[in-house]
Amino acid sequence: MTKPSFDVAVVGAGPAGATCAWYLAKRGIRVALLDKARFPRDKFCGDAVIPRAQRHLRRMGVLDQLIDAGECLFTTSGGFVSPSGIECLSDSEQNPSGTPMSVKRIILDERIVRAAQSAGAELLEEMRIDKVTFDDRAGTWTAHSGNKRIEARTLVLADGAQSKLARSLGIVEGGPEAICSRAFIEGGTHHFETDGICYMERELLPGYAAIFRHPNDELNFCTYIIPGGKAVPSDLKALHHRLLEHNPIIRRHLGSGYEIEPMRGAWLRLGGIPRSYADNLLVIGDAAGHIDPLTGEGIQFAMEGAEKAADTLAEAFRAGRFDADFLSVYQDKWHGEFGHKFGFAKTASRLMARYPELVDTMAKVANERGDDFFFAWADIMMGEAPWSDFLKPKLAVPMAAAAARELLTQRWSRARSRLRSGQKTPYDSRI
Ligand SMILES: Cc1cc2nc3c(=O)[nH]c(=O)nc-3n(C[C@H](O)[C@H](O)[C@H](O)COP(=O)(O)OP(=O)(O)OC[C@H]3O[C@@H](n4cnc5c(N)ncnc54)[C@H](O)[C@@H]3O)c2cc1C
Repeated sequence: MTKPSFDVAVVGAGPAGATCAWYLAKRGIRVALLDKARFPRDKFCGDAVIPRAQRHLRRMGVLDQLIDAGECLFTTSGGFVSPSGIECLSDSEQNPSGTPMSVKRIILDERIVRAAQSAGAELLEEMRIDKVTFDDRAGTWTAHSGNKRIEARTLVLADGAQSKLARSLGIVEGGPEAICSRAFIEGGTHHFETDGICYMERELLPGYAAIFRHPNDELNFCTYIIPGGKAVPSDLKALHHRLLEHNPIIRRHLGSGYEIEPMRGAWLRLGGIPRSYADNLLVIGDAAGHIDPLTGEGIQFAMEGAEKAADTLAEAFRAGRFDADFLSVYQDKWHGEFGHKFGFAKTASRLMARYPELVDTMAKVANERGDDFFFAWADIMMGEAPWSDFLKPKLAVPMAAAAARELLTQRWSRARSRLRSGQKTPYDSRI
Protein backbone atom coordinates (compact mmCIF):
# COMPACT_ATOMS: atom_id res chain seq x y z
CA MET A 1 0.00 0.00 0.00
CA THR A 2 1.49 3.41 -0.98
CA LYS A 3 1.82 5.99 1.73
CA PRO A 4 -0.33 9.10 1.12
CA SER A 5 1.61 12.34 0.63
CA PHE A 6 0.29 13.80 3.88
CA ASP A 7 -0.56 12.47 7.32
CA VAL A 8 -3.29 15.10 7.66
CA ALA A 9 -5.09 17.32 5.16
CA VAL A 10 -6.81 20.29 6.80
CA VAL A 11 -9.50 21.92 4.66
CA GLY A 12 -9.94 25.60 5.58
CA ALA A 13 -7.16 27.86 6.85
CA GLY A 14 -9.17 30.11 9.18
CA PRO A 15 -8.21 30.24 12.88
CA ALA A 16 -9.39 26.64 13.39
CA GLY A 17 -7.62 25.03 10.43
CA ALA A 18 -4.42 27.07 10.64
CA THR A 19 -4.10 26.55 14.41
CA CYS A 20 -4.66 22.82 14.01
CA ALA A 21 -2.00 22.74 11.27
CA TRP A 22 0.39 24.61 13.59
CA TYR A 23 -0.09 22.15 16.46
CA LEU A 24 0.26 19.17 14.10
CA ALA A 25 3.36 20.51 12.35
CA LYS A 26 4.96 21.25 15.73
CA ARG A 27 4.61 17.54 16.49
CA GLY A 28 6.38 16.61 13.26
CA ILE A 29 3.18 15.45 11.53
CA ARG A 30 3.09 16.04 7.74
CA VAL A 31 0.18 18.39 7.23
CA ALA A 32 -1.35 20.08 4.18
CA LEU A 33 -3.38 23.23 4.86
CA LEU A 34 -5.83 23.89 2.01
CA ASP A 35 -7.89 27.00 1.42
CA LYS A 36 -9.98 28.26 -1.46
CA ALA A 37 -8.70 31.79 -0.81
CA ARG A 38 -5.27 33.37 -1.14
CA PHE A 39 -4.01 35.02 2.04
CA PRO A 40 -4.36 37.72 3.19
CA ARG A 41 -8.12 37.25 2.91
CA ASP A 42 -10.92 39.02 4.76
CA LYS A 43 -13.49 37.34 7.02
CA PHE A 44 -16.60 39.15 8.26
CA CYS A 45 -16.24 39.26 12.03
CA GLY A 46 -16.63 41.50 15.08
CA ASP A 47 -12.82 41.27 15.45
CA ALA A 48 -12.96 40.79 19.25
CA VAL A 49 -10.38 38.26 20.42
CA ILE A 50 -10.73 37.24 24.06
CA PRO A 51 -7.90 36.14 26.39
CA ARG A 52 -8.55 32.41 25.81
CA ALA A 53 -7.65 32.88 22.14
CA GLN A 54 -4.79 35.23 22.99
CA ARG A 55 -3.08 32.38 24.88
CA HIS A 56 -2.84 30.29 21.71
CA LEU A 57 -1.70 33.31 19.73
CA ARG A 58 1.02 33.93 22.30
CA ARG A 59 2.20 30.31 22.08
CA MET A 60 2.37 30.58 18.28
CA GLY A 61 4.36 33.82 18.44
CA VAL A 62 1.49 35.63 16.73
CA LEU A 63 0.45 37.78 19.68
CA ASP A 64 3.90 39.36 19.97
CA GLN A 65 3.94 40.01 16.21
CA LEU A 66 0.54 41.74 16.41
CA ILE A 67 1.62 43.86 19.37
CA ASP A 68 5.00 44.77 17.87
CA ALA A 69 3.39 45.76 14.57
CA GLY A 70 0.67 47.79 16.34
CA GLU A 71 -2.00 45.67 14.64
CA CYS A 72 -4.15 44.97 17.71
CA LEU A 73 -5.76 47.10 20.39
CA PHE A 74 -6.46 45.84 23.91
CA THR A 75 -9.93 46.94 24.92
CA THR A 76 -9.08 48.89 28.05
CA SER A 77 -12.30 50.86 28.26
CA GLY A 78 -15.82 49.81 27.48
CA GLY A 79 -18.69 47.66 28.64
CA PHE A 80 -22.33 47.34 27.68
CA VAL A 81 -25.57 49.26 27.39
CA SER A 82 -28.67 47.56 28.80
CA PRO A 83 -32.05 47.31 27.02
CA SER A 84 -33.35 50.30 28.99
CA GLY A 85 -30.29 52.32 28.08
CA ILE A 86 -28.26 51.99 31.29
CA GLU A 87 -24.63 52.45 30.34
CA CYS A 88 -22.29 50.18 32.24
CA LEU A 89 -18.77 51.16 31.26
CA SER A 90 -15.56 50.26 33.01
CA ASP A 91 -11.81 50.48 32.75
CA SER A 92 -11.08 46.83 32.06
CA GLU A 93 -7.32 47.41 31.93
CA GLN A 94 -7.38 46.54 35.64
CA ASN A 95 -8.98 43.11 35.13
CA PRO A 96 -6.37 40.53 36.19
CA SER A 97 -7.86 37.94 33.81
CA GLY A 98 -7.05 40.12 30.82
CA THR A 99 -9.16 41.98 28.32
CA PRO A 100 -10.38 41.31 24.79
CA MET A 101 -8.39 42.79 21.97
CA SER A 102 -9.45 43.85 18.52
CA VAL A 103 -7.57 42.86 15.40
CA LYS A 104 -8.74 42.82 11.82
CA ARG A 105 -9.27 39.32 10.52
CA ILE A 106 -7.47 40.09 7.29
CA ILE A 107 -4.38 40.54 9.48
CA LEU A 108 -5.00 37.95 12.20
CA ASP A 109 -5.81 35.03 9.92
CA GLU A 110 -2.80 35.63 7.72
CA ARG A 111 -0.49 35.79 10.74
CA ILE A 112 -1.80 32.43 11.99
CA VAL A 113 -1.45 30.86 8.53
CA ARG A 114 2.16 32.08 8.25
CA ALA A 115 2.89 30.68 11.73
CA ALA A 116 1.55 27.30 10.60
CA GLN A 117 3.73 27.48 7.48
CA SER A 118 6.81 28.37 9.53
CA ALA A 119 6.08 25.41 11.80
CA GLY A 120 6.22 23.14 8.74
CA ALA A 121 2.66 22.94 7.36
CA GLU A 122 2.36 22.99 3.57
CA LEU A 123 -0.08 25.74 2.57
CA LEU A 124 -2.01 25.19 -0.65
CA GLU A 125 -3.98 28.33 -1.54
CA GLU A 126 -6.70 28.91 -4.14
CA MET A 127 -7.57 25.27 -3.61
CA ARG A 128 -11.36 25.05 -3.34
CA ILE A 129 -12.22 21.53 -2.26
CA ASP A 130 -15.32 20.39 -4.16
CA LYS A 131 -15.64 17.01 -2.51
CA VAL A 132 -13.83 14.58 -0.26
CA THR A 133 -13.82 10.80 -0.67
CA PHE A 134 -12.68 7.99 1.60
CA ASP A 135 -10.93 4.85 0.36
CA ASP A 136 -12.01 2.27 2.89
CA ARG A 137 -9.41 -0.32 1.88
CA ALA A 138 -6.43 2.03 1.82
CA GLY A 139 -7.72 4.02 4.81
CA THR A 140 -7.04 7.36 3.12
CA TRP A 141 -9.00 10.51 2.33
CA THR A 142 -8.76 12.36 -0.96
CA ALA A 143 -9.65 16.04 -1.23
CA HIS A 144 -10.70 16.94 -4.78
CA SER A 145 -10.21 20.40 -6.23
CA GLY A 146 -11.08 20.39 -9.94
CA ASN A 147 -8.64 17.90 -11.39
CA LYS A 148 -6.22 18.20 -8.46
CA ARG A 149 -6.17 15.60 -5.70
CA ILE A 150 -4.65 15.74 -2.22
CA GLU A 151 -4.36 12.43 -0.40
CA ALA A 152 -3.91 12.08 3.32
CA ARG A 153 -4.28 9.44 6.02
CA THR A 154 -6.64 11.70 7.96
CA LEU A 155 -8.82 14.67 7.13
CA VAL A 156 -9.72 17.69 9.26
CA LEU A 157 -12.71 19.72 8.08
CA ALA A 158 -12.39 23.39 9.07
CA ASP A 159 -14.34 24.96 6.22
CA GLY A 160 -16.43 27.36 8.31
CA ALA A 161 -20.03 27.76 9.48
CA GLN A 162 -21.71 26.46 6.33
CA SER A 163 -19.88 23.20 6.98
CA LYS A 164 -20.49 22.16 3.38
CA LEU A 165 -18.10 19.22 3.30
CA ALA A 166 -19.23 17.69 6.59
CA ARG A 167 -22.84 18.15 5.44
CA SER A 168 -22.07 16.39 2.16
CA LEU A 169 -20.84 13.44 4.24
CA GLY A 170 -23.93 13.48 6.48
CA ILE A 171 -21.85 14.28 9.59
CA VAL A 172 -23.40 17.71 10.05
CA GLU A 173 -27.07 18.34 9.44
CA GLY A 174 -28.85 21.58 8.59
CA GLY A 175 -27.59 25.08 8.01
CA PRO A 176 -26.25 27.54 10.57
CA GLU A 177 -28.92 29.29 12.62
CA ALA A 178 -27.40 32.63 13.62
CA ILE A 179 -26.15 35.53 11.55
CA CYS A 180 -24.13 38.67 12.09
CA SER A 181 -23.42 41.85 10.14
CA ARG A 182 -20.22 43.86 9.91
CA ALA A 183 -19.40 47.34 8.66
CA PHE A 184 -16.22 49.34 9.24
CA ILE A 185 -16.53 53.00 10.20
CA GLU A 186 -13.61 55.08 9.05
CA GLY A 187 -11.23 56.34 11.73
CA GLY A 188 -11.32 60.06 12.44
CA THR A 189 -14.89 60.44 11.17
CA HIS A 190 -16.70 59.39 14.39
CA HIS A 191 -16.83 60.48 18.05
CA PHE A 192 -16.67 57.06 19.72
CA GLU A 193 -14.73 57.49 22.95
CA THR A 194 -14.22 53.99 24.36
CA ASP A 195 -12.59 50.86 22.94
CA GLY A 196 -15.58 48.54 22.84
CA ILE A 197 -19.27 48.52 23.77
CA CYS A 198 -22.01 45.89 23.41
CA TYR A 199 -25.53 47.28 22.94
CA MET A 200 -28.06 44.86 24.41
CA GLU A 201 -30.93 46.25 22.36
CA ARG A 202 -34.33 44.90 23.41
CA GLU A 203 -35.54 43.97 19.92
CA LEU A 204 -32.30 42.07 19.26
CA LEU A 205 -31.98 40.06 22.47
CA PRO A 206 -30.41 37.56 22.95
CA GLY A 207 -28.45 39.05 20.06
CA TYR A 208 -26.83 42.45 20.38
CA ALA A 209 -24.89 45.07 18.49
CA ALA A 210 -21.25 45.85 19.19
CA ILE A 211 -18.67 48.45 18.35
CA PHE A 212 -14.96 47.71 18.69
CA ARG A 213 -12.16 50.12 17.96
CA HIS A 214 -9.08 49.17 15.94
CA PRO A 215 -5.62 50.65 16.52
CA ASN A 216 -6.04 52.98 13.51
CA ASP A 217 -9.26 54.39 15.06
CA GLU A 218 -11.46 52.50 12.59
CA LEU A 219 -14.54 51.00 14.25
CA ASN A 220 -16.15 47.64 13.62
CA PHE A 221 -19.94 47.84 13.96
CA CYS A 222 -21.74 44.52 13.97
CA THR A 223 -25.19 43.19 14.79
CA TYR A 224 -25.71 39.62 16.00
CA ILE A 225 -29.01 37.82 15.49
CA ILE A 226 -29.02 34.81 17.78
CA PRO A 227 -31.95 32.36 18.04
CA GLY A 228 -34.24 32.56 21.04
CA GLY A 229 -35.66 36.06 20.63
CA LYS A 230 -37.95 37.90 18.25
CA ALA A 231 -35.38 38.81 15.60
CA VAL A 232 -34.75 36.32 12.79
CA PRO A 233 -31.88 36.20 10.27
CA SER A 234 -33.94 37.88 7.53
CA ASP A 235 -34.22 40.96 9.82
CA LEU A 236 -30.46 41.50 9.77
CA LYS A 237 -30.19 44.28 7.22
CA ALA A 238 -33.13 46.26 8.61
CA LEU A 239 -31.95 45.94 12.22
CA HIS A 240 -28.35 46.83 11.40
CA HIS A 241 -29.47 50.07 9.74
CA ARG A 242 -32.23 50.83 12.24
CA LEU A 243 -29.80 50.70 15.14
CA LEU A 244 -27.36 53.02 13.42
CA GLU A 245 -30.05 55.47 12.39
CA HIS A 246 -32.46 55.40 15.34
CA ASN A 247 -30.82 54.04 18.49
CA PRO A 248 -30.23 57.26 20.46
CA ILE A 249 -27.26 55.92 22.43
CA ILE A 250 -25.44 54.52 19.40
CA ARG A 251 -26.10 57.79 17.57
CA ARG A 252 -24.71 59.78 20.49
CA HIS A 253 -21.65 57.53 20.80
CA LEU A 254 -20.83 57.74 17.09
CA GLY A 255 -21.75 61.36 16.46
CA SER A 256 -22.96 62.50 13.07
CA GLY A 257 -21.31 62.52 9.67
CA TYR A 258 -19.19 59.39 10.13
CA GLU A 259 -18.25 57.34 7.08
CA ILE A 260 -19.39 53.74 7.11
CA GLU A 261 -18.93 51.02 4.51
CA PRO A 262 -21.85 48.92 3.23
CA MET A 263 -23.01 46.17 5.56
CA ARG A 264 -21.84 42.57 4.98
CA GLY A 265 -23.12 39.54 6.81
CA ALA A 266 -22.11 35.96 7.55
CA TRP A 267 -23.53 32.93 9.32
CA LEU A 268 -22.71 31.41 12.68
CA ARG A 269 -23.25 27.78 13.65
CA LEU A 270 -23.78 27.72 17.40
CA GLY A 271 -23.48 25.30 20.26
CA GLY A 272 -21.45 22.34 18.96
CA ILE A 273 -22.49 19.39 16.80
CA PRO A 274 -23.42 16.03 18.35
CA ARG A 275 -20.76 14.08 16.43
CA SER A 276 -17.58 15.72 15.20
CA TYR A 277 -15.62 12.63 14.13
CA ALA A 278 -15.78 9.70 11.72
CA ASP A 279 -13.26 7.18 10.41
CA ASN A 280 -9.97 9.07 9.82
CA LEU A 281 -11.80 12.40 10.11
CA LEU A 282 -12.42 15.27 12.55
CA VAL A 283 -14.51 18.44 12.23
CA ILE A 284 -13.33 21.62 13.97
CA GLY A 285 -14.13 25.32 14.39
CA ASP A 286 -17.32 26.86 13.01
CA ALA A 287 -17.82 23.75 10.88
CA ALA A 288 -18.34 21.90 14.18
CA GLY A 289 -20.55 24.65 15.64
CA HIS A 290 -17.86 25.76 18.08
CA ILE A 291 -19.41 29.17 18.72
CA ASP A 292 -20.75 30.43 22.04
CA PRO A 293 -24.58 30.43 21.80
CA LEU A 294 -24.75 33.51 24.03
CA THR A 295 -22.01 35.79 22.71
CA GLY A 296 -21.61 34.54 19.12
CA GLU A 297 -17.84 34.47 19.62
CA GLY A 298 -15.90 31.54 18.27
CA ILE A 299 -12.24 32.37 17.62
CA GLN A 300 -11.22 31.04 21.05
CA PHE A 301 -13.08 27.74 20.54
CA ALA A 302 -11.79 27.44 16.98
CA MET A 303 -8.27 27.50 18.45
CA GLU A 304 -8.95 25.37 21.53
CA GLY A 305 -10.82 22.76 19.48
CA ALA A 306 -7.98 22.81 16.95
CA GLU A 307 -5.47 21.98 19.68
CA LYS A 308 -7.69 19.13 20.93
CA ALA A 309 -7.99 17.79 17.37
CA ALA A 310 -4.20 17.91 16.94
CA ASP A 311 -3.72 16.10 20.29
CA THR A 312 -6.18 13.42 19.22
CA LEU A 313 -4.52 12.92 15.84
CA ALA A 314 -1.06 12.76 17.43
CA GLU A 315 -2.38 9.98 19.72
CA ALA A 316 -3.93 8.26 16.69
CA PHE A 317 -0.60 8.26 14.81
CA ARG A 318 1.20 6.90 17.85
CA ALA A 319 -1.38 4.12 18.25
CA GLY A 320 -1.80 3.52 14.50
CA ARG A 321 -5.57 3.74 15.04
CA PHE A 322 -7.77 6.06 12.98
CA ASP A 323 -11.21 4.49 13.34
CA ALA A 324 -14.18 6.53 14.56
CA ASP A 325 -14.15 4.70 17.90
CA PHE A 326 -10.62 5.80 18.63
CA LEU A 327 -11.17 9.35 17.37
CA SER A 328 -14.34 9.79 19.43
CA VAL A 329 -12.09 10.95 22.28
CA TYR A 330 -11.85 14.27 20.40
CA GLN A 331 -15.56 14.90 21.07
CA ASP A 332 -14.97 14.29 24.80
CA LYS A 333 -11.92 16.54 24.80
CA TRP A 334 -13.64 19.61 23.33
CA HIS A 335 -16.79 18.96 25.32
CA GLY A 336 -14.73 18.85 28.52
CA GLU A 337 -12.81 21.99 27.60
CA PHE A 338 -15.67 24.25 26.47
CA GLY A 339 -18.62 22.35 24.96
CA HIS A 340 -20.20 21.58 28.34
CA LYS A 341 -20.84 25.31 28.76
CA PHE A 342 -22.93 25.61 25.62
CA GLY A 343 -26.07 24.31 27.36
CA PHE A 344 -25.85 27.01 30.08
CA ALA A 345 -25.15 29.63 27.45
CA LYS A 346 -28.25 28.64 25.48
CA THR A 347 -30.40 28.80 28.61
CA ALA A 348 -28.93 32.17 29.53
CA SER A 349 -29.63 33.52 26.04
CA ARG A 350 -33.27 32.46 26.24
CA LEU A 351 -33.61 33.98 29.71
CA MET A 352 -32.19 37.27 28.46
CA ALA A 353 -34.64 37.36 25.57
CA ARG A 354 -37.56 36.54 27.86
CA TYR A 355 -36.53 38.87 30.69
CA PRO A 356 -34.58 41.86 29.32
CA GLU A 357 -34.97 43.31 32.83
CA LEU A 358 -32.22 40.92 33.94
CA VAL A 359 -29.74 42.73 31.73
CA ASP A 360 -30.90 46.10 33.11
CA THR A 361 -30.40 44.69 36.59
CA MET A 362 -26.92 43.51 35.72
CA ALA A 363 -26.02 46.99 34.49
CA LYS A 364 -27.46 48.68 37.59
CA VAL A 365 -25.77 46.34 40.04
CA ALA A 366 -22.45 46.55 38.17
CA ASN A 367 -22.62 50.36 38.29
CA GLU A 368 -23.41 50.27 42.02
CA ARG A 369 -20.81 47.66 42.95
CA GLY A 370 -17.97 48.80 40.71
CA ASP A 371 -15.10 47.02 39.02
CA ASP A 372 -14.98 43.88 41.20
CA PHE A 373 -18.52 42.92 40.25
CA PHE A 374 -18.01 43.93 36.62
CA PHE A 375 -14.83 41.85 36.30
CA ALA A 376 -16.47 38.82 37.94
CA TRP A 377 -19.28 39.05 35.38
CA ALA A 378 -16.87 39.70 32.48
CA ASP A 379 -14.76 36.68 33.47
CA ILE A 380 -17.81 34.41 33.20
CA MET A 381 -18.76 35.89 29.83
CA MET A 382 -15.20 35.45 28.52
CA GLY A 383 -15.03 31.87 29.81
CA GLU A 384 -12.31 32.71 32.35
CA ALA A 385 -14.60 31.63 35.21
CA PRO A 386 -17.27 28.90 35.28
CA TRP A 387 -20.98 29.69 34.91
CA SER A 388 -21.45 28.36 38.45
CA ASP A 389 -19.75 31.56 39.66
CA PHE A 390 -23.09 33.26 39.03
CA LEU A 391 -24.28 31.34 42.10
CA LYS A 392 -21.54 32.73 44.34
CA PRO A 393 -22.93 35.18 46.93
CA LYS A 394 -20.81 38.02 45.52
CA LEU A 395 -22.85 37.91 42.29
CA ALA A 396 -25.99 36.00 43.20
CA VAL A 397 -27.20 37.98 46.23
CA PRO A 398 -27.13 41.51 44.78
CA MET A 399 -28.37 40.22 41.43
CA ALA A 400 -31.34 38.33 42.88
CA ALA A 401 -32.44 41.25 45.05
CA ALA A 402 -32.04 43.79 42.27
CA ALA A 403 -33.65 41.53 39.65
CA ALA A 404 -36.78 41.08 41.72
CA ARG A 405 -36.98 44.85 42.25
CA GLU A 406 -36.34 45.61 38.59
CA LEU A 407 -38.79 43.02 37.29
CA LEU A 408 -41.60 44.33 39.44
CA THR A 409 -40.87 48.00 38.78
CA GLN A 410 -40.57 47.69 35.00
CA ARG A 411 -43.56 45.46 34.55
CA TRP A 412 -45.69 47.56 36.86
CA SER A 413 -44.78 50.81 35.09
CA ARG A 414 -45.40 49.31 31.64
CA ALA A 415 -48.73 47.86 32.69
CA ARG A 416 -49.68 51.24 34.19
CA SER A 417 -48.78 53.20 31.06
CA ARG A 418 -50.66 50.69 28.93
CA LEU A 419 -53.73 51.10 31.11
CA ARG A 420 -53.44 54.88 30.89
CA SER A 421 -53.03 55.03 27.13
CA GLY A 422 -55.26 52.07 26.39
CA GLN A 423 -52.59 51.03 23.86
CA LYS A 424 -50.20 48.12 23.55
CA THR A 425 -46.46 48.79 23.32
CA PRO A 426 -44.35 46.50 21.11
CA TYR A 427 -43.02 44.74 24.19
CA ASP A 428 -46.24 44.31 26.10
CA SER A 429 -46.92 40.94 24.56
CA ARG A 430 -44.25 39.62 26.94
CA ILE A 431 -46.12 40.72 30.05
C1 LIG B 1 -20.13 38.80 11.44
C2 LIG B 1 -19.47 37.89 12.47
C3 LIG B 1 -18.92 38.44 13.61
C4 LIG B 1 -18.19 37.63 14.49
N1 LIG B 1 -17.56 38.22 15.54
C5 LIG B 1 -16.74 37.50 16.32
C6 LIG B 1 -15.95 38.12 17.32
O1 LIG B 1 -15.97 39.34 17.48
N2 LIG B 1 -15.15 37.34 18.09
C7 LIG B 1 -15.08 35.99 17.91
O2 LIG B 1 -14.35 35.32 18.66
N3 LIG B 1 -15.81 35.37 16.96
C8 LIG B 1 -16.61 36.09 16.14
N4 LIG B 1 -17.30 35.48 15.14
C9 LIG B 1 -17.11 34.04 14.93
C10 LIG B 1 -15.75 33.79 14.26
O3 LIG B 1 -15.66 34.55 13.07
C11 LIG B 1 -15.59 32.31 13.93
O4 LIG B 1 -15.86 31.55 15.08
C12 LIG B 1 -14.20 31.98 13.42
O5 LIG B 1 -13.93 32.63 12.21
C13 LIG B 1 -14.08 30.46 13.22
O6 LIG B 1 -12.94 30.12 12.51
P1 LIG B 1 -12.94 28.89 11.49
O7 LIG B 1 -11.52 28.70 11.11
O8 LIG B 1 -13.69 27.75 12.03
O9 LIG B 1 -13.79 29.37 10.23
P2 LIG B 1 -13.50 30.53 9.18
O10 LIG B 1 -12.78 31.64 9.82
O11 LIG B 1 -14.79 30.80 8.52
O12 LIG B 1 -12.51 29.87 8.12
C14 LIG B 1 -12.96 28.90 7.20
C15 LIG B 1 -11.96 28.83 6.05
O13 LIG B 1 -12.34 27.76 5.20
C16 LIG B 1 -12.15 28.15 3.84
N5 LIG B 1 -13.02 27.30 3.03
C17 LIG B 1 -14.37 27.23 3.08
N6 LIG B 1 -14.81 26.31 2.20
C18 LIG B 1 -13.72 25.80 1.60
C19 LIG B 1 -13.53 24.81 0.59
N7 LIG B 1 -14.55 24.17 0.03
N8 LIG B 1 -12.27 24.54 0.19
C20 LIG B 1 -11.21 25.17 0.73
N9 LIG B 1 -11.33 26.13 1.69
C21 LIG B 1 -12.57 26.42 2.12
C22 LIG B 1 -12.52 29.63 3.84
O14 LIG B 1 -11.92 30.31 2.76
C23 LIG B 1 -11.96 30.09 5.20
O15 LIG B 1 -10.63 30.58 5.07
C24 LIG B 1 -18.08 36.24 14.26
C25 LIG B 1 -18.69 35.67 13.14
C26 LIG B 1 -19.38 36.48 12.25
C27 LIG B 1 -20.01 35.86 11.04
